[in-house]
Amino acid sequence: MQIDFRDVLKDRHRWALQHKQMGGLVMGCYSAMLPEELMWSCGVLPVQFLMSPGPYYGESLSYLPPYVCDCSRSMLEDYMNGTYGYLDGLMFSHVCETVRGLAGICSVRWPDRFVRIFTAPAGNDPGARRYLKAELLSLAKELEHMGGVPLSEERLQAAISVYNENRGLVSELYRVRGQNPGAVEPAQVLSAVMASSIMPKDQHNRMMREFLKTIRKGPDVSGTRIILSGLLFENEVVLGSELFSILKACHALVVWDDLASGMRYRLEPVDNSRRVNPLDRLTEDLLGPQPAPLRSPAERKAGQMLEAARTYGAEGFIFLIPKYCDPILFDLPTLTRILKEKDFPTLSLEISGSLLEGALRTRVEAFMEMLSASAGDPIRA
Ligand code: SF4
Repeated sequence: MQIDFRDVLKDRHRWALQHKQMGGLVMGCYSAMLPEELMWSCGVLPVQFLMSPGPYYGESLSYLPPYVCDCSRSMLEDYMNGTYGYLDGLMFSHVCETVRGLAGICSVRWPDRFVRIFTAPAGNDPGARRYLKAELLSLAKELEHMGGVPLSEERLQAAISVYNENRGLVSELYRVRGQNPGAVEPAQVLSAVMASSIMPKDQHNRMMREFLKTIRKGPDVSGTRIILSGLLFENEVVLGSELFSILKACHALVVWDDLASGMRYRLEPVDNSRRVNPLDRLTEDLLGPQPAPLRSPAERKAGQMLEAARTYGAEGFIFLIPKYCDPILFDLPTLTRILKEKDFPTLSLEISGSLLEGALRTRVEAFMEMLSASAGDPIRA
């Protein structure tokens, strides 16, 4: 059977509802970098909020200032209008001040509901490890109090294994696509990652294994290889983004991405060596560098992007910058400087809820023409 992960996204609540029917709990998660393994080991399905098509003119309007990114608007609107009425609680990871503000709004508006903000310390020293481990233990107790399964080493180890397998399968998908970009459309790759964030990982692993079998036989195609960075909203991917059809018309081949909704969804595996107990290993992982602006210097990220460009022969980078997103904007000058120093052209596009076709087409076409014209330049150092 041909698997299309966009079908999972179109029916995005199905998996959560199934989990609830089986007696499990469902936690609404906003942004990655949350202790999902711990939640899953306690019988709680973490479900990331996916962006709705909008517009977001409902009750949330009176809670948010006008200068807030569209995905945060979408999250609050959907939570308020009951789209996610089945959730047992909300967890926010402190990736930016907007997320922190949202957590504050939700905990004040619904004081009787479970609303938590999760912040891993910036440092990684014995004190930070002690603090974070205590936080994780306290979270596990709260989940148990809500009706979750008590934390155990065996269950946490099993959760780490299934999550690590998922990261491995997604990495394999990126490797196959990077080597043979004609084998799978960029929207399919992003849909696969996004689907992983809303369904049980063991079921996603099964689908990924089947999906990988079908894409290995893709045709060889020629074109100009590029990498996407920043954030592409889910509604763009589900509804069929203009960006992808424009890129296709320009013979652009996306060989990798550094998108928050793509490769940045926590692909660093947790140490699975079993030398120390799983809670200590999860703590260590959460304290390590993660592929998000707040937990990874832009220089490190630039290094990863350059490595991907060299591995998969990319010739340029397109940045998709959500309007009002400070963390991504803070990184942008450093990233573009480093990439340009290595002779990689970059294009930055500001995006809001949906990409505007006319302006987008002109800018992308001009950029791709420039890349094609410079093809044949000496190999970049
Ligand atoms: S990181 Fe950016 S896009 Fe994400 S919630 Fe914060 S401001 Fe919005």
